[in-house]
Amino acid sequence: MIYYLTTILVYGGVDAIACLGLSQQFGVAGVTNFGFIIFQAAGAYTAGVLSLPNQSANGGFQSYVGGLGLPWPIPWIGAAIVGGLLALPFASLVGKRLRGDFAAIGLLVTAVMFNLLVTNYRPFLNGAAGLSLVPSPLGGVVDPLSGGYQFGYGIVAIVLAALVYLFLRRVTNSPYGRTLRAMRDNDVVADSLGKNLRSLRTSMLVLGGAIAGLSGGVLVGFINLWDPQAWGYAETIVLFAAVIIGGLGNHSGAVLGAILVPLGFEEASRYIPSIGPAGLIPALQWVAIGLLIVLFLWFRPQGILPERRRKLATAGVPAGPVVLPGAGAADELPDVPTLPPPPVVARHPGASAARGEIVLEAHDLARIFEGVRAVDGVTIAIQRGRLTGLIGPNGAGKSTTLAMLAGTLLPSEGRILYAGEDITGLPAYLRARKGLVRTFQLASEFKKLTVIENLVSAVPGQQGDSFRGAVLGKRYWGAQERQNVERAEHMLERFGLSAHADRYAGDLSGGQRRLVELMRSLMAEPQVLLLDEPMAGVHPRLARQIGHQLLALCAEGMTIVMVEHELSIMDEFCDPVIVMAEGRVLAEGTMAELRGRSEVVEAYLVG
Ligand code: ADP
Ligand code: MG
Repeated sequence: MIYYLTTILVYGGVDAIACLGLSQQFGVAGVTNFGFIIFQAAGAYTAGVLSLPNQSANGGFQSYVGGLGLPWPIPWIGAAIVGGLLALPFASLVGKRLRGDFAAIGLLVTAVMFNLLVTNYRPFLNGAAGLSLVPSPLGGVVDPLSGGYQFGYGIVAIVLAALVYLFLRRVTNSPYGRTLRAMRDNDVVADSLGKNLRSLRTSMLVLGGAIAGLSGGVLVGFINLWDPQAWGYAETIVLFAAVIIGGLGNHSGAVLGAILVPLGFEEASRYIPSIGPAGLIPALQWVAIGLLIVLFLWFRPQGILPERRRKLATAGVPAGPVVLPGAGAADELPDVPTLPPPPVVARHPGASAARGEIVLEAHDLARIFEGVRAVDGVTIAIQRGRLTGLIGPNGAGKSTTLAMLAGTLLPSEGRILYAGEDITGLPAYLRARKGLVRTFQLASEFKKLTVIENLVSAVPGQQGDSFRGAVLGKRYWGAQERQNVERAEHMLERFGLSAHADRYAGDLSGGQRRLVELMRSLMAEPQVLLLDEPMAGVHPRLARQIGHQLLALCAEGMTIVMVEHELSIMDEFCDPVIVMAEGRVLAEGTMAELRGRSEVVEAYLVG
């Protein structure tokens, strides 16, 4: 009986540790790693060969790398280190080119190949036979078969799982964790706000790999075996099922999922009488896990314990239920506030530079999509301190031009200069850090971040927005975080969204979400702000108020380029205005001048 209980404790701890690693990697950061189990296997193997004596010691019937006979806890530490290091080659796969789905499949294929290699090539890792006679930790000191030892092992596994939980909670609740969740919700937007996706993804693969490796190390010391068949890539699916069912983005959910799925199924299958042909029950188990995933994704995608909504707002905002205006036109009108005059932005170093000098230029910029020249030789020069308008019919290439200026798209031809520096090949996140910030035409809020989290996430140079900062803890980054929250609250007040501070941004109306994006881009402390239809879907009265805000920001030294369809907005706020059509610049001037030019009128102003 004690053996049965302790086995459950150990397996529960091991599964919980692994699920926590996956929860951080997939649930929080959105890095889909279908090769996750490989890291557990590598950790287990490492712990095995670090603790095993040299190859000949047991009669030389098995061959393995190492055989160092090191004492506990070195094999477990080694398991975590090797799991983490193994993530580095995987990370290069997930780097810039292989994103999202591709990366997931790439990792799956790598995992399958790894399995084939290990199973079929005996000199390496002893082939299909795996390892046996792996020594139990401290086996020379305490009898590994005694009840006390077994029970102690279970306790150690559970304590380790608790420590991993606390550590990951610290990371996830930090500004760095917020950045990870932002990347998960919309990586292109996170990139445009100065977040280094490659480094974030690499860190998550390494952290997840180390945790998976540790769990493997704990397991192999208990079962004293390393069987390559036990780490089939399909086992990864069991862990994914656990974190999806438990609740994505919630570490407690991951622990619950670990108890329900891997442990639960293992235990349940123990009590099912073996009926039918051999292999029927395990096969049915796979069907059941697959069905469970589908059912949850369909009926309860947030899992049993949904991700916790984090409340940051401190101001005297009534906590009562927020009533949204009903559908229809009024839907786009959040109590139109009287916007007090800015300043909105705390600091932007460009403010002192001369107004009117050229701050951003494009030379012969072109972008070819599948042979079509969507942007075809655009040359523009943007003056500092002005609100430049960009108009043109649908498909003229306005958004594509903006995307190239911001680095979201690389140009097929041409050059871009920013503050005198050639930035043509500079990644978007580095442009954002230099103060060149964009917004998007399509909704791009971080849906599962609250409104205020959306805003604070964009603040550059946060102390807690690095792995190190997150580990140092709230004492390190808390004071600065409070200032950032306060700044965000002022911004919310200015745009009349204070009452919505702690709601998920994804739950707001279209017009409100536009405001969130605009505020978020301002929080990024831009010197040059590229706005792609920021007023689309916003009530006309509010749109005009925003226009005045933007002008005031320009008067302070900010430079703004704005794509907008509404000509009355252009008339009132934008000077100069650039007209694009069919991928080219058609004309540039004040709206009054443009209305006097027949080719412009023909291409756009009428029709
Ligand atoms: P605008 O913002 O002026 O309406 P866009 O820059 O969005 O125009 O688009 C210009 C042209 O490029 C359109 O014909 C559009 O279909 C095409 N286009 C834009 N993005 C892509 C893409 N990712 N792949 C293929 N074609 C695209
Ligand atoms: Mg567009």
